[in-house]
Amino acid sequence: MNSSSIQTVGIIGAGAMGNGIAQACAIAGIRAVMIDISQQAVDKGIATISSSLDRLIKKDKLSPAQKAAALALIEGSTDYAQLNQAQLVIEAATENYAIKRKILQQVDAQLAPEVIIATNTSSISITQLAADTKRPERFIGMHFFNPVPMMALVEIIRGYLTSDATHDAVKALAQRLGKSPITVKNAPGFVVNRILVPMINEAFFVLAEGLASAEDIDAGMKLGCNQPIGPLALADMIGLDVCLAVMQVYLEQFGDAKYRPCPLLKEMVAAGQLGRKTGRGVYSY
Ligand code: NAD
Repeated sequence: MNSSSIQTVGIIGAGAMGNGIAQACAIAGIRAVMIDISQQAVDKGIATISSSLDRLIKKDKLSPAQKAAALALIEGSTDYAQLNQAQLVIEAATENYAIKRKILQQVDAQLAPEVIIATNTSSISITQLAADTKRPERFIGMHFFNPVPMMALVEIIRGYLTSDATHDAVKALAQRLGKSPITVKNAPGFVVNRILVPMINEAFFVLAEGLASAEDIDAGMKLGCNQPIGPLALADMIGLDVCLAVMQVYLEQFGDAKYRPCPLLKEMVAAGQLGRKTGRGVYSY
């Protein structure tokens, strides 16, 4: 299987990531079959793509004819059999191991043996998910970033048994989608989150030690490191509970005390101050 023989991509999950991946495929002229558990979820995914394309039209980045052509390349369904049209299936369902294992076992049994299965998981081991299929050499991580149509990066994560041919085909497909892929070996957090989340945790230590105000910590990282947003404001966007959960996974899986979550982060999560989604985190909204 090489990238040019991928004409149809199957996508499992029509949520934030699934519909973003479907849009990226369609814009690149690749057919996308997007599956979810309910027709309502499928319709919501398609509607999200339609409004995202409308925003591109408003910015003069897309014509109405291009929008129509892109939408015509996307098929939404609740029927897993529709995935049989695909040469690559990307699993982008809810981040839960039991759910993903069930999905992967089902599609592994159903798809032709040469089809590549990829997962967009952020935190589950690619090697472990591969082992739930009978095609670990044709299984790989394809970690897109949110919002998919805007973000250039895809982390391509090789499981322990992923073949070179699978890696090369998926990397070439990411490039056809206009993305800039990087290749990573399987390990918790891959590359970007492995560096990003401990940096956020460190910002909480600096805040807790009273070294600087939240505003000054964020201004320091914006102005001194050219980051578009400071680490504490970013934590509020991601959700403090999510940042804490990620640190706890690193601490447990690496067994290294350097991943100890900051006590202030734990306190704020215990108090229910989770960031933007609760109206209050490091900052008030
Ligand atoms: P989401 O909650 O927006 O969407 C998940 C979708 O999966 C839902 O529509 C749900 O109905 C569907 N689903 C659940 N079980 C299913 C099944 N058995 N078959 C088909 N569909 C099913 O979640 P999301 O943010 O799109 O995340 C999806 C995946 O992408 C997760 O693994 C997540 O870790 C990963 N991811 C998320 C982000 C992000 O910023 N949101 C970034 C990178 C990777």
